[in-house]
Amino acid sequence: MLGWMKKLYQVSPVWMQQLGINAYGWYWKKRRLGQEFETVWRAYAERESWSADRLREYVEAQLRQQLQRAFSQVPYYQRVFRQCGLDAASLRNFTLEDLARLPVLEKSELRETPTICLTTSAARKPPMQLYTSGSTGTPITVFMDREMHQHTLGVREARSFRWAGVSLRESRATFGAKPIVPLSATQGPYWRYNVWEHQVYFSIYHIRADRVEDYAAALNRYQPTTIVGFPSALGTLAHFFAEKGIAVYRPRAIIMTSEPLDMHTREKIEQVFGCRCYQEYSSVENCFLATECERGQLHVSVDFGYLEILRPDGSPCPRGEVGEIVATGFANKNQLFIRYRVGDYAAWSGTPCACGRSALPTLEGLIGRVEDVLLLPDGRSLFRADTIFKQLPGIQMGQIVQTALDTVEIKIVPAKEFDPSVEGELRRRFQELAGAGMKVAVTCVSEISRERSGKIRAVVNLVRRNGGLKRSE
Ligand SMILES: [Zn+2]
Repeated sequence: MLGWMKKLYQVSPVWMQQLGINAYGWYWKKRRLGQEFETVWRAYAERESWSADRLREYVEAQLRQQLQRAFSQVPYYQRVFRQCGLDAASLRNFTLEDLARLPVLEKSELRETPTICLTTSAARKPPMQLYTSGSTGTPITVFMDREMHQHTLGVREARSFRWAGVSLRESRATFGAKPIVPLSATQGPYWRYNVWEHQVYFSIYHIRADRVEDYAAALNRYQPTTIVGFPSALGTLAHFFAEKGIAVYRPRAIIMTSEPLDMHTREKIEQVFGCRCYQEYSSVENCFLATECERGQLHVSVDFGYLEILRPDGSPCPRGEVGEIVATGFANKNQLFIRYRVGDYAAWSGTPCACGRSALPTLEGLIGRVEDVLLLPDGRSLFRADTIFKQLPGIQMGQIVQTALDTVEIKIVPAKEFDPSVEGELRRRFQELAGAGMKVAVTCVSEISRERSGKIRAVVNLVRRNGGLKRSE
């Protein structure tokens, strides 16, 4: 949406905002759920049943096509590939193992030169731009054309929605980052309705104990088949619904996006909404997708984007070892992400999934952003520190903030049944993970603030974010 339109929207009365939402909704429905969408999702669904060998052949063919496109149409890649001793002929026989010969594309390079991975024709006439706000630094610019939008939705229809037993074409409630209700609003409704997609879009920025009746009323009125959105928002809502004894409509599935989902929040949401949660993991660059199957495993859609998990020295991590995600996307034909360092840590799962989709490898879980992983004074990185909140009663939400190399602040939003003794327990649990040398302060707060992107991070490392430590891995 253009800047002036956003400003006009923010000061318009609710009925005019509703009109705007529906004009916008009509345009987006056509753009994202057009003809390509139908073909694309069916093809993704079909490939799930392929053998690992057949899918590998397909993925390798996609990779070669994308590399050849990059070589002939993107000056940056042409230069890089030549430096690696590659030419048009060698790219025709390129294999997945050869990927290690190519350098990794850093986010900083994309920030400095937003058009770095655009084809020359796209650079002349760029497709629609989407800005990712990011928590630090300059935003990343992502370019997407109509075909790419339909691809992105197609793979989600086949792998997120269908696995959860629902469809994008059915009604849904969304809890996303869009400031759909002006931030200054102190009166409901805290949602807007898009008739074209049977979608009720809720504001995640207005959720408060005294306003949740408005959210419940809209859920009960529109009865969405699926709820899609940020776990932090749904977790908070579930907490207030439970505390106040408010009954809400039971959707068929909940698809969690954008933030890692801890078991505690998941259980609370599943209990209150009375249905199962499915996790979805992607990035705004849309160069990979991992989605949860019926058996609870997170499968990577390698036919949408190929994933590598790398050690600090660039070698591949064996199963179970945490490393950095590097992705190569196949769907975007205008902006090519080849060996792109996403900025998240993950690990391959060591156990095959019983669902039978053996060609789609599984991740052990989401670990979080590289810049927010805690760094201990002895040089170790501490992953999954937020497990300290596990099964502790009386905590509505928690966050760990590293403020100095030897200091963390644990923020907690207390619930009604809060018992001050959990503060000592949190300190003990944290020091058990990090070592006794770490100073820990526990603070009770009324809320944990969202980032510019709308997300809430369970772990924030201010030392790294403020550039106090250079990337040392
Ligand atoms: Zn599975």
